[in-house]
Amino acid sequence: MKLFDIHTHRLNIPNSLFNAERDINSLSPNQYFSIGLHPWYLYDKWEEKWSEFRNYVTNQNCLAIGEVGFDRLRGPELSIQNAAFEEQANTAKTEEIPLILHCVKGHDLLLEYLKNTSSHPQIIWHGWNLKTHLAEQLLPFSVNFSFGEKILDSKSNASQWLKNCPKERIFLETDNSEKEIDQIYQAASLILGLSVEDLERQVIQNWNRISSKKLK
Ligand SMILES: [Zn+2]
Repeated sequence: MKLFDIHTHRLNIPNSLFNAERDINSLSPNQYFSIGLHPWYLYDKWEEKWSEFRNYVTNQNCLAIGEVGFDRLRGPELSIQNAAFEEQANTAKTEEIPLILHCVKGHDLLLEYLKNTSSHPQIIWHGWNLKTHLAEQLLPFSVNFSFGEKILDSKSNASQWLKNCPKERIFLETDNSEKEIDQIYQAASLILGLSVEDLERQVIQNWNRISSKKLK
């Protein structure tokens, strides 16, 4: 079985999308990865760093841009975060690959971007754990949701939204959890009333719907 893990910080796990922010040179040749400038690390000269990272985007194993986004608790001022986000979102759009979003207290910033930009990439909000009405506000746009260990708690916002989220917008991840991706799929399968096999197929199909770089 291929339980695809959309976002992890653990290196060299099969069928996973490794977040290769600083470890780009330690990847095994078959490792899928995403690359991007995290809002926490956008201090000086992010443009230079990005133009270096930009070279990796056309690598066949680079499946997404990320994690990038907004964070009101950590990182530089919002004008810098916005500029870096827009630049990287444009790349995701041009390459027709998804953008993996890190968003802390920045739902309004994302919404503002989506409303003011006519052409935006497919976005996967990773580690979703906000209230359902906030998710619903994003549905008119090409925003997808990735769920991690928070769904192991049946009372979490993540579990609540997973139940109601359109099936074609669902992804699953381990992020920096100690949990294995099998546990996340099992929890999601119970919440959704879908077998793990059906869920596995659904996630691959979802990915292939939103990306030019297809999974088999
Ligand atoms: Zn992460």
